[in-house]
Amino acid sequence: MVRKKVDLLIENAAELITIKGATQRPCCRPQPRDLGIIRHGSIAINDGLIVQTGRAEELKSRFRSEEVIDATGKVVMPGFVDPHTHLVFSGSREDEFHMRVEGAAYMEILAKGGGILKTVDATRKASKEMLLGRCAKALDVMLHHGTTTVESKSGYGLSTESEVKCLEVMKQLDRSHPVDVVPTFMGAHATPLDYRDNEDEYVDLIVNEMIPKVAENGLADFCDVFCEEGVFSIAQSRRILRCGLEHGLSAKIHADEMTWLGGAELAAELQATSADHLLFTSDKGFKAMAQQRILGILLPLASFSLMTNHYANARMAIAVGVPVALGTDYNPSCWAEDQQTTIAFAYRMLRMTPSEAILATTINAAHAIDRAQSIGSLERGKKADILILGIPSHKLLGYRFGVNLVAKVIKDGQVVVDEREGNHK
Ligand SMILES: [Zn+2]
Repeated sequence: MVRKKVDLLIENAAELITIKGATQRPCCRPQPRDLGIIRHGSIAINDGLIVQTGRAEELKSRFRSEEVIDATGKVVMPGFVDPHTHLVFSGSREDEFHMRVEGAAYMEILAKGGGILKTVDATRKASKEMLLGRCAKALDVMLHHGTTTVESKSGYGLSTESEVKCLEVMKQLDRSHPVDVVPTFMGAHATPLDYRDNEDEYVDLIVNEMIPKVAENGLADFCDVFCEEGVFSIAQSRRILRCGLEHGLSAKIHADEMTWLGGAELAAELQATSADHLLFTSDKGFKAMAQQRILGILLPLASFSLMTNHYANARMAIAVGVPVALGTDYNPSCWAEDQQTTIAFAYRMLRMTPSEAILATTINAAHAIDRAQSIGSLERGKKADILILGIPSHKLLGYRFGVNLVAKVIKDGQVVVDEREGNHK
């Protein structure tokens, strides 16, 4: 039999984690078999896409390539998808973090013009070039830790001009950096100081000016709102998200992070793509989400950074059938780039299993940003976004933590990170 020539073969993986079969529907109660593990597995790649996965001997008889990677003793899996980050901002807030360590509450810092508003000031002043340079470095770190697609929210501009600037930075990063960047408009992240006594006027600005402009210029796929006591109410959130939907932006919502407000129920009412955080969500809220198959994006590193000792009830969410995804919540108050660390926390603080955590950072995370047709699993026709981990079993991922287990990252069929070259592109 003539062997077909392909661009790249990855051979002999101890475990090839394909995650077959969840492209149409996210995994609701993940089982170990859902990982679709092929032991002693290989994968053939051509033109940046996956051609076939299977047992090593089978692929060897069908394909040949000038570029072969031997993955003996290693785990090969889909690149991580990070479905919740606030990538584009300027400055840092380490002083405020240490104030929190000494006991100050986040809402107290926000009321004093700190928190989000401090970052808004720095981001408004930053040029596009400055933002591009800083964000590209953050994406480098994410890529080195295995993230190949990242969702990114605006929300540190809070004026039409600055929000557009941040979304344009994301567009440019998506083109220039190997990591794919999926943009979300989040003008409703906080009320800027100039509208402090006129919150509804700021909502008017979002609805009448920002959303139409963002949609008209194709700058975002999603619209998100920080629905929280003292930030945006249920009524304001509903108004903003409905306007987004009317303009073709799918809905996402920061729901029930600090208090119960009914954000999960609102997500179900609006058939949002995801509801995120969910620390104070009721079982009724989780059930409403499960019924509509709305992804719950859990962010354990945000809880860790806020030091509240309060984590989302992942067990309840999974038990009632909410498809769960996991993200870093990368932002100035939770400066975390690494989904391996998210998984380590998901085990320990959310009591998730290896299958649940891996599905939550791959195919379910892809569903959470409407990209499951092209990424999140290793199946024929999907993008060749692949990790090779220097461990022989997926059960070591997140069990070993605080170190980078990535040996190689392949993005669109190209090796972009190789530990043998000091983890540089
Ligand atoms: Zn967030």
